[in-house]
Amino acid sequence: MICENLGVNSLGHLTFAGLDTVELAEKYGTPLYVMDENRIRHNCRVYVNAMKKYFGENAGCLYASKACSFKKLYEIVGEEGFGTDVVSSGEVYTALKAGFPLENAFFHSNNKTDEDIAFAIDNGIGYFVCDNIEEVNAISEIAAEKGVTQKVLLRLTPGIDPHTYEAVNTGKVDSKFGSAIETGQGFEITKLTLGLKNIKLCGFHCHIGSQIFDSEIYIRGSEIMLEFIAKVKKELGFTAEILDLGGGYGVRYIEANPYIDIDKNIALLADFMKKTVAQLGIEMPKIYLEPGRSIVADAGITLYTAGTLKKIPGYKNYVSIDGGMADNPRYALYGSYYSVVSASRPEAECDMLCTLAGRCCESGDLIQENIRLPHDIKRGEKIAVLTTGAYNYSMSSNYNRLGKPAVIMIKDKEDFIAVKRETLEDIIRNDM
Ligand SMILES: *Cc1c(COP(=O)(O)O)cnc(C)c1O
Repeated sequence: MICENLGVNSLGHLTFAGLDTVELAEKYGTPLYVMDENRIRHNCRVYVNAMKKYFGENAGCLYASKACSFKKLYEIVGEEGFGTDVVSSGEVYTALKAGFPLENAFFHSNNKTDEDIAFAIDNGIGYFVCDNIEEVNAISEIAAEKGVTQKVLLRLTPGIDPHTYEAVNTGKVDSKFGSAIETGQGFEITKLTLGLKNIKLCGFHCHIGSQIFDSEIYIRGSEIMLEFIAKVKKELGFTAEILDLGGGYGVRYIEANPYIDIDKNIALLADFMKKTVAQLGIEMPKIYLEPGRSIVADAGITLYTAGTLKKIPGYKNYVSIDGGMADNPRYALYGSYYSVVSASRPEAECDMLCTLAGRCCESGDLIQENIRLPHDIKRGEKIAVLTTGAYNYSMSSNYNRLGKPAVIMIKDKEDFIAVKRETLEDIIRNDM
């Protein structure tokens, strides 16, 4: 199957992280997010080990918590030696409540509010990754009011089109994120930042995109960033201590997606960067990578219960489930691919072309089109959507006043609740 943590047991049910998914669905109800803690730890270790091996001690990994954020996750990635990326006071607060050391947190986002900035500084955030000059000015002023010096990085756009989905391209010049190197804005913002009080510029950041399989893109990105670092050293006398190359390594959602060897990618990247810094006559900065998807995506599946099978002869077959765009908006947002199987009988013949439809009142509420399932899917049958650990729970909403599903985790074949299912009372909690 798509990931090695999936299997089939003697009852013919789908297993995930060694447990029977039909039993889990019955025990906790559906929709249900199920996460494999061992897999998350494994994915973290691949990065940490590779960074150490190829870049040495002066390197680090940050977990991009927008991929999936709840307290237990910060505990896990922290234990694995990761720092974290946060993008809101909500993520800062969650990390804080999980006991995550905030000096290892990097605050991203293209528009941090004054409240976000003040809250993060008050709680000892390590770094802000600043998007634009107004933001650096705001951080400088708030840091001055508080009598602190705040460490920052600047987000630059190296101008690379990673040939991935348009909606998740962020490293191009016309992106809403960061300051472009090509237009001279990156240099300008560096100069201005160096002149600000209560700000310590520590280096630069870029994030080229998401779901990237081609190591060449990172290599090219690193080259542009290192050339920029050499330029500001020569022209402004500024030495960047940190270069954060962002996240974005791809994962396998469907069989057609390639396997990606993270270790090998990092080896190639390090090799190239070592040669490049030597040529440019600069020191290697501390290198960070900040993966999100590739840490959690294949560590998660979502379990649903099938409702109606609606056959429209000559047109389409719809299998509807008890969740949908409220718990996984990604197909509706940008047509993301997923693999879908019957958890009740993953080995049954998949002889029906169909669409997996959610229960929300939107015709665009689909989880996947043009998939194959058994022709006799029955009401009550359990359906699994695979590789949903990233950008599902974190993007979920209460549309149609649906409660968010529980997130359960499995560690060494023991299951436990990481996030409780929202109740009807939770739904009206803030209503006056
Ligand atoms: C989204 C994002 C990441 C993580 O990207 P993945 O594709 O999930 O690895 C890392 N850094 C920044 C700044 C991001 O916006």
